[in-house]
Amino acid sequence: VAKSMLAAVIDRPHQIAVREVPIPELQPDEALVRVEAAGVCGTDVHIFDGGFLASYPIIAGHEFAGTIVALGPEVTGYQVGDRVACEPSISCDHCYFCRRNLHNHCENWQSLGVTRPGAFAEYVAVPRQCLYRIERLSFAEAAFVEPLACVVFGQERARLQLGDNVLIFGAGAIGLQHLQLIRRAGAAQVAVVDKRSDRLELASTLGADWAIVADGTESQKLRDIAPRGFKLVIDATGVSAVVEQAVQYVMNSGKLLVFGVCPQAERISVSPFEIYRRDLQIVGSFAIRRTFSQAVSLLEAGAIEVKPLIGQTITLSELPEALALMARGQAPMKIQVCNQG
Ligand SMILES: [Zn+2]
Ligand SMILES: [Zn+2]
Repeated sequence: VAKSMLAAVIDRPHQIAVREVPIPELQPDEALVRVEAAGVCGTDVHIFDGGFLASYPIIAGHEFAGTIVALGPEVTGYQVGDRVACEPSISCDHCYFCRRNLHNHCENWQSLGVTRPGAFAEYVAVPRQCLYRIERLSFAEAAFVEPLACVVFGQERARLQLGDNVLIFGAGAIGLQHLQLIRRAGAAQVAVVDKRSDRLELASTLGADWAIVADGTESQKLRDIAPRGFKLVIDATGVSAVVEQAVQYVMNSGKLLVFGVCPQAERISVSPFEIYRRDLQIVGSFAIRRTFSQAVSLLEAGAIEVKPLIGQTITLSELPEALALMARGQAPMKIQVCNQG
């Protein structure tokens, strides 16, 4: 392995440069992974914008798969050449929350691509606890294990009952993973709302019973479809105004899953009386809580299709442009940075 590598470094909000940096040095319990595919996520856009809990300068990128090229002396069970998907969250396993199996609230929480160097680079140092061997998956598919693991955790939080009707706001890569998983999980019918008709077409292909354009007429359409509302409403937009108006579509005794990442400083207005009177539950879901293996299984089995969600494959040097496009809301579906070498 060479001494330096190409990486996209966000030096401070709105400033990103693709340049040579030293290859990460390994701790004894870490593997050096050559990145073969890395998904670009809304969170990366937030980090680029300065709106997320990142430490700068930072190499972002937390949805990735690659090949092990070197191993620290304490890493057992893996070999150079192994193909792996990598969980970005690193938990300590001994704090208050870890000891109660709430690892995503670890008091010593770290994340590749958020608080330490991530996957928008040729190589990443990955702790052993974050390695998951992949068998049949392509690297492009394996780069979806992370977002799917978040989706699995979100739905475990939402605890759908068989036969429930579900409404999903947002037909991006996340919304369409929610759609496929919730259908597998036993939803009776699923409605998907988005502003973009190209995304809604894909939603229909992937099993949406209703694909509804958010053009101002969606409210009436949703009332017609479900006069009592939906047992579960999922926000996969991360737009505060969407979350605010989503409450009205939750059936009495139903749930709203706040999954999309809204800007940290924003506020919405919800009637506490309505929450009380209608027995509502508003549920959050942060990152992954021991759901990475489940996501590997779902993808290896072909239970969730992710290839149709890949909108564009780019090189590292094209990343700054792609982040700007995403920030303007003009990007295609999932953009992946792929190793062309
Ligand atoms: Zn992500
Ligand atoms: Zn912990």
